[in-house]
Parts: sequence; C-alpha cells; structure tokens
Amino acid sequence: MSLKNSKIIIVKIGSSLLVDENKKIRKKWLYSFAKDIKHLKKKNKKVVIVSSGAIALGCIKMKFNKKNLKLDQSQAIASIGQIELMNLFSKIFSKHKLNISQILLTLEDTEERRRSLNAKRTFDNLFNLDFIPIVNENDTIATSEIKYGDNDRLASRVAQITNADTLVLLSDVNGLYSKNPKIFSDAKLIKKVENLNKELKDINFKGINEFGSGGMNTKIEAAKICQLSGCDMIISNGLYLNPIDRILKRDEYTIFLSKVSKLHARKKWIISSVSPKGELIIDDGAKKALRNSKSLLAAGIKKVNGNFKKGDHIRILDKSNKECARGLCSFSSDEIKKILGHHSNEIEKILGYITKSEVVHKDDMVEI
Ligand code: GLU
Repeated sequence: MSLKNSKIIIVKIGSSLLVDENKKIRKKWLYSFAKDIKHLKKKNKKVVIVSSGAIALGCIKMKFNKKNLKLDQSQAIASIGQIELMNLFSKIFSKHKLNISQILLTLEDTEERRRSLNAKRTFDNLFNLDFIPIVNENDTIATSEIKYGDNDRLASRVAQITNADTLVLLSDVNGLYSKNPKIFSDAKLIKKVENLNKELKDINFKGINEFGSGGMNTKIEAAKICQLSGCDMIISNGLYLNPIDRILKRDEYTIFLSKVSKLHARKKWIISSVSPKGELIIDDGAKKALRNSKSLLAAGIKKVNGNFKKGDHIRILDKSNKECARGLCSFSSDEIKKILGHHSNEIEKILGYITKSEVVHKDDMVEI
C-alpha cells in the first residue's frame, strides 16, 4: 500500500534528525516535519510518532557526553531529556494546532498479549480524541536485558499493535543499498523489497550496518516484523526539510512490501495463540451474526466456562457445544457472568463503569 492510501501511519524519527552534529536542536526541521504531519491529519490519517532523543536532549541540558554514560546514568539522563523532548514537540506542534500525547513503552508492554491489547485500546482512544501519540521506549526503567535499545524495532511493534498500514523509518540514510555506497560507486538504492529473505542474500552488507543510528540490522529486523503484520515499511532519508512530503513526491527510498493482509496477520496471531483460557456458549442468533462477520455481543451469550481475564484467548461454542470461533475477549469471565443475555447499552449500568460494547470484537475473532 502506498503512503498516500495508508490510513494508519507510524513515523519513527531518530535522534540525528532532532539534534545536529554541533548538538543544536534542528527546530526548523521539526517545524517542517510538523507541517507534513498536519497535511496527513488533514487527509484524515491516523498518525503515531515514535521519537528518539530523550538521551540526546538530556545530554545537551546536562552538558554530558553520551559516550561516557553508564546504563544507570543514561536512564537518569533519559528521564531528564524525555521532558525536554516532549516540551519541544509540544511547542512546535501547537503552532500547527496539533494535539500530542506521550506513551512510554517497555519491551514487555509490546510482547505480552494482554498488555499490548491494552496499549491498542489507548492508541485507538487517542485517535478518536484526535491526538497524536508520541512514543518512546521507557528508557528510565528498562534494563539492558529487557530493552529494545533501538526505536526501529519498537516502532515496528507499535505498527503491529495499532494495525498500521505503513511504518516510515526516517533515518540519516536514503534506504537499503545493494552495497555500501560510500565504498562502491555502483551501489544501487533498492527501491522495492518484495521478498525480504531472497533480497537480503544478494546484498553485500560490508559496512552497511554502520549506517543509521540503529544500524541497518535493526531496520531489517523491523521490516521482518512489519512483513508478518501486513504493514509496509519505508526507510527514507529524513534529514531533508518536509521529509514526509518528500516521500510522497519522489521515489528515492526503500519500501518493504508486506504480502499478507493486515486482517489475515492479526487473525493468524489470534489462532496461533497459546491454549484458550475459557469458553463462551452462544445462541443461534449470535452464531448467525458471527457467520456474517459481526462482533459477539453480550445479548447472544448463554453461558461462560472457565476463569479468564480481559484480553485472554477464548473459544466460542454454539449451543450443541460445537466450536464456531476463537477470539480475544474484551471482558473477564466474571464480568461476562453479570452481563450475559443483556443488551449492550445496559452493560455500563450493570458493571458500574464504561467498557467496550462488543464482548469479542470481529477484528479479534477467527471463525472456525
Ligand atoms: N530511546 C532512546 C532515546 O530516546 C533512543 C533509541 C534509539 O535511538 O533508537 O534516546
């Protein structure tokens, strides 16, 4: 899918785009970037920004050199710099009347199903409120063993969680080359990658990995995650002003195309999840609705078996106990016991708090 047709877009920006080699903040660039985001928003696209820069901005404020920092020191610096980073975004984005929010994620938040489902809800709600989430790794608490350490892979997980159509990695390189362009004059920019494994075999990686702050390795890892999630990924040189506009106007970047559909990828993930934690027995009306690709509502549920939490993997059975679907449940088994058989607009009153109206959303369900 082209960037133009994408509905949900994740843009990752590296520290080198925000701060130049003289440790000066590239305000003019950020201003032009915000203008590009404004254009995307005007076209009704949902946008998430994954931004590095907490440590870089923390170092500027404290006049420290990043190279001399130990892990625990860099965590304190990230804590100082993250506020600087968000202040910078807030100042510049508000000039374009763009609302921003902050999401700090750890590796576990994205790897564990329940937590990633929760994160998805938060992203969805922020989209509905017309806010642009700005994501970074929660550097202040993540230790080296449970750390992404690079925002390339974090951004690809965010793309997966939000069901994004395209992830744009704005880097300080033009894209993926056949050879190191600094050494070989015949190095070619690979504009389109359709079969990642095949394409990678033909690349001479000598020196290529040094490009970009996270190197090419983490970008390729990110591309692999995107390909499995039904999300296309672009690597483009973000050092230019109006970097998104540039992608829309010139094809001087690498795009990794995903062959699987987004829905297919998500459903495959659901069906391949670990053993289901419980069962919902539904009536004929609900079964018919499921066959017509509708969500499962409380009104059609007759019985709950097992103890499960919100976000758990469950089986859906018809009244003769035949399995008809599997899915991720938006309610716990205790909650469902209270609301089964009831109309969706009664749920809030029964439970005493606001929830989703679908017990299993159609996007979280696979028919069997
Ligand atoms: N999370 C780090 C920061 O904000 C950056 C990680 C990266 O550059 O990929 O400084």
